[in-house]
Amino acid sequence: MNLFKKKEEVLDPYTVEQCNVCSKKSTRKFQEGDYIFKVTDKCPSCGNGQMIIDKIFGEVRK
Ligand SMILES: [Zn+2]
Repeated sequence: MNLFKKKEEVLDPYTVEQCNVCSKKSTRKFQEGDYIFKVTDKCPSCGNGQMIIDKIFGEVRK
């Protein structure tokens, strides 16, 4: 490891899902095939809604 090298930014992608009924949000690691507005699982919180992908973002790994 070279401490003097300017650090390269590695992005860790995350996916934010939101329930369409109770609006509960959950963040998890991005998985292959994720895209905005994709309907994923049933909401674990209210049990009625569907989790829909709200946004996908990258976080710089420290
Ligand atoms: Zn819900």
